[in-house]
Amino acid sequence: MKLSSFLYFAGFGIKTVLLRQKKPILGTVILTDKCNLKCKHCSVNNITAKIHPYSQIKKEMQILYDMGVRILFFCGGETFMWNDGEKTLRDLVIEAKEMGFLIVNTVTNGTFPIDLPEADLILLSLDGDRERHNIIRGNTYDTIIENINKATCDNICLYMAINQINKNTVKDVCLTARDTKNIRAVSFNFHTPYPDTCELALTKEEKSACCDVIKEMIKEGAPVFNLKSAFKYLINNSFPTPCHQCVVIEDGKISTCGRCIEVEGLCRECGYFFVAEYTLLFRGNLRIIFEMLKTYLKYI
Ligand code: SF4
Ligand code: SF4
Repeated sequence: MKLSSFLYFAGFGIKTVLLRQKKPILGTVILTDKCNLKCKHCSVNNITAKIHPYSQIKKEMQILYDMGVRILFFCGGETFMWNDGEKTLRDLVIEAKEMGFLIVNTVTNGTFPIDLPEADLILLSLDGDRERHNIIRGNTYDTIIENINKATCDNICLYMAINQINKNTVKDVCLTARDTKNIRAVSFNFHTPYPDTCELALTKEEKSACCDVIKEMIKEGAPVFNLKSAFKYLINNSFPTPCHQCVVIEDGKISTCGRCIEVEGLCRECGYFFVAEYTLLFRGNLRIIFEMLKTYLKYI
């Protein structure tokens, strides 16, 4: 990360903590909900299957920038399915940087060739070893690993949502992250139990066991892009929600934290590690602040 970006984020953090501000810093633009997969745990694919036009996406990026957002995520659906005429996801990433966003990331399911060196991080979903991943995401594991190996930059961060199907394969994903070229890190979430997928949620004990594995793997050199200090809050769902520093825009509609904010009672069972990490950070939790500095400077 550039020193100027670091200083900007440090200033934002200090002001947010001291003045208890609720201004956003992290924003997500949903490019489309169209997706080539139908993962077992997913509640958001192909509801409209609309690919939002370039002019609209540009406007939404500007809206987020004007709100103060400086960390931008592009999300789907599948982001690599987005295009408008000649414009592709890569153009959006380049233009976001030119607009002044300091960190620009995208989320993908990894089934398309990965040529996005301008992105700071490409969060790529890998949901276990080959067997478990394929149960959840269809027969895609080998294609994904091939795409990772052929990627044009080492800016890939694996992204695993831990649920009842893959809870025993956390170690496999940590080792894949550590030992595969082009992968910089791995980031975890616990399954957030939407009404149609609540049977996949983990118990407190299961979450605790997964966190023990992650801690062990950190000791063995796995590049984990999460904060150990947040684990106890995630296990107990005792972190504050929602995250007021995060916003999502989809088809012109802005939501605080996530689109899931509209699902009654879901925030109490939120499994998103970033929500715990950010809300604790902006409440001034010193251990989180220290660990976040160390972790972010290492991987971004
Ligand atoms: S790849 Fe992502 S958007 Fe597509 S079905 Fe899977 S989880 Fe849902
Ligand atoms: S469930 Fe609530 S706290 Fe979690 S990401 Fe969604 S809106 Fe945020």
